[in-house]
Amino acid sequence: MAIDIGAALRVVADEPNPEPHVAHNYSPIPVTAATAEGAWVTDVDGARYLDCLGAYSAVNFGHRHPAIVAAALEQINRVTLTSRAFRSDRLEPFCAALAGLAGKDMVLPMNTGAEAVESAIKVARKWGYEVKGVPDLQAQIIVAGGNFHGRTTTIVGFSDDPDARNGFGPFTPGFVRVPFGDADAVAAAIGPDTVAILIEPIQGEAGIIVPPDDFLPRVRDLCTAHGVLMIADEIQSGLGRTGKTFAVEHWDVVPDIYTLGKALGGGLVPVSAVVADHDVLGVLRPGQHGSTFGGNPLAAAVGLRVVEMLSDGSWQARAAELGEHLHTRLRDFVGSGVIAVRGKGLWAGIDLEPGRGTGKEFCLRLADHGVLAKDTHDSTLRLAPPLVVTHDEIDWMADRFATALHS
Ligand SMILES: *Cc1c(COP(=O)(O)O)cnc(C)c1O
Repeated sequence: MAIDIGAALRVVADEPNPEPHVAHNYSPIPVTAATAEGAWVTDVDGARYLDCLGAYSAVNFGHRHPAIVAAALEQINRVTLTSRAFRSDRLEPFCAALAGLAGKDMVLPMNTGAEAVESAIKVARKWGYEVKGVPDLQAQIIVAGGNFHGRTTTIVGFSDDPDARNGFGPFTPGFVRVPFGDADAVAAAIGPDTVAILIEPIQGEAGIIVPPDDFLPRVRDLCTAHGVLMIADEIQSGLGRTGKTFAVEHWDVVPDIYTLGKALGGGLVPVSAVVADHDVLGVLRPGQHGSTFGGNPLAAAVGLRVVEMLSDGSWQARAAELGEHLHTRLRDFVGSGVIAVRGKGLWAGIDLEPGRGTGKEFCLRLADHGVLAKDTHDSTLRLAPPLVVTHDEIDWMADRFATALHS
């Protein structure tokens, strides 16, 4: 695996682009996957890489997990797409299982994460008008600085990342942004027209930012006291990644609404969902929201298998245990190339010391040593290996990480 880092950076700088027909909204690491299994990806030249990104947590169970592939194949041979104009026999079992996993009444099935967030925003606004009694068109939703909730025009409108938002306005009104982790700022931002706070319990894209321990419990109390819906965006943090089914469990917090996605699709198909109780999700009535593909039989069969796999807690326990090991190994680098390591479970944000190159350059070096990872911001890396990764593979990765730090 000899990646020419100089050449790779020239590709990044948009010189000879090997994919001229692909819109340039990404600058991928120059590794071209041909096959993948478990935690490993093999490229078109036969080189193998340990996948420590796991498609941003969408591949929590590893590539092509046999139980998920089996559920998908079985469903492909029955019925795959009906639209919601009539029923399939997979949707209710999937929604019942997912609602049960989350301890809620109902599930609104969608496809992508951004759609789940958009749907939760619509539900919160409608709840605000119909249940809370907010005057029409006045609903406000509180969001956090550094948030990442997807790429639609409404969602990028309340982002503070210039790349995400510049050039895409005008934006949807009705959002107020407060610093992440600052419960006093949340308290100050709540007014009579506040219908919801939308928050990642641990911010993924921002660099695996874990809030102060009192933050989410205080947000929960504020929401309860002021009749505000707490929406936990667990699209990246949820479904086992942090060592719990949902990251909010680390602080014994129960939100009113979960948005889920990524790993819910088992690494096979896009599956997302809004999960809440009947008094919230029940505001949607026929014709008021929908999706041609949302809740399709193939997605529902895959999602059901994912929920079944998470129901005995063993994946969560594995992520917690191996996460301890991952963080122990990574903390060894603090002071020798690394400034800080954050995260929970098999999820780590790593700030590189200045002079170690950009996050992107470091990812190219890691790839050259057989490890796939992704930078988030300039000098921050994110590791989110599939939960099938082993203790020995974590050691193997950490050794290569050390080599990349010192090469
Ligand atoms: C990835 C992500 C989304 C958006 O999901 P897509 O499937 O890419 O639309 C939303 N929220 C969070 C926290 C995410 O990490």
